[in-house]
Amino acid sequence: MSPAPGQAALRIDLGAIVANWRDLCARHGAAVAGVVKADAYGLGAAPVARALHAAGCNIFFVAHLTEGLALRQALGVATDGARAGGPAIVVLNGFPPGADGDAALLPVLNSLGDVAAHAAAGRAAGVPRRALLHLDTGMARLGLDAREQAALAADRAPLAVLELRFVMTHLACADEPAHPLNATQAARFAEAAARIAPGVPRSLANSSGIFLGEGFRSALARPGCALYGINPTPGAGNPMRQVATVEAEILQVRDIEAGDTVGYGASWTAREPRRIATVAAGYADGYLRALSGRSLALLHGRPVPLVGRVSMDLTTFDVTDVPQAAPGDRLLLVGGPGNTPDDIAARCGTIGYEVLTSLGARYLRVHADA
Ligand SMILES: *Cc1c(COP(=O)(O)O)cnc(C)c1O
Repeated sequence: MSPAPGQAALRIDLGAIVANWRDLCARHGAAVAGVVKADAYGLGAAPVARALHAAGCNIFFVAHLTEGLALRQALGVATDGARAGGPAIVVLNGFPPGADGDAALLPVLNSLGDVAAHAAAGRAAGVPRRALLHLDTGMARLGLDAREQAALAADRAPLAVLELRFVMTHLACADEPAHPLNATQAARFAEAAARIAPGVPRSLANSSGIFLGEGFRSALARPGCALYGINPTPGAGNPMRQVATVEAEILQVRDIEAGDTVGYGASWTAREPRRIATVAAGYADGYLRALSGRSLALLHGRPVPLVGRVSMDLTTFDVTDVPQAAPGDRLLLVGGPGNTPDDIAARCGTIGYEVLTSLGARYLRVHADA
């Protein structure tokens, strides 16, 4: 499939995602899930999960119930009941008992209230409810806090009508290996999991956690960003393969004179005659406006600086040093040496995760097969 005239293309290398997953499996030495929340960080949950499932990944994490229902449709088979088989799909934000219909999603129980609700449903049905239990050990976001953990340890009756697949926690600072909270969280988790859910397999590390070493190994790692080529070890080299590129088309090339300004706010002024290429993508496509005046793209393999402000649908680059630049040429907005999602994020004070998840809906998304 090729893009329509003027349409930008987001190319996703499923083979690289699968290679990254295998690499993480080898490093972790235990089961590794695929975190495909937020449409697989903007890269397409259905094709990404299908490719990972074909490679042997048997458990996926999404954030929302709606994402879980859509993923079950895409992957075909429910995990239990009459339609046994297929991968497990875990909903991190949880959902009320029964809200998953016959999709057999696994809720994460994030509070004592969640535990009570699913236990009551299990008791009423006479069948233990399958779920994951989330213990908060330092995020103060979701999961049972210390007081709730103490209460559940004191009265474990609800757990008799729950079939806990995993007990999990989430690291706050895994991308900072020297941060003391990492070891603190691992210790709190080991202690609380043993007390509340002895014998239940544990799930600890996200992408960066896999790189923290022995003390962070668990029965199931939950990487997201590293699958998609984001560096799980910031500050050190990126061990992952790059996955996503964005190509946008040059609509016009024009010559401007010294003193001419480019774009909204006249924020950039040419000091000498320059050639400006106007490209058909902007902040509505997730090419963040905060990149105005501080980014670059690659044209025929050469870096060209972004000049002026990023507009909604258009962005301007100084292509003076690439004399063959012409309308219809495709410029690499994201991808290529020095232009990864992490590189782009660093230019505007955000993280590669936000660059990827911002990529908008107007692209032709092309998934290269694994
Ligand atoms: C998003 C998320 C992950 C994946 O995190 P990455 O840093 O992308 O690897 C794992 N666990 C939980 C609870 C999450 O919310």
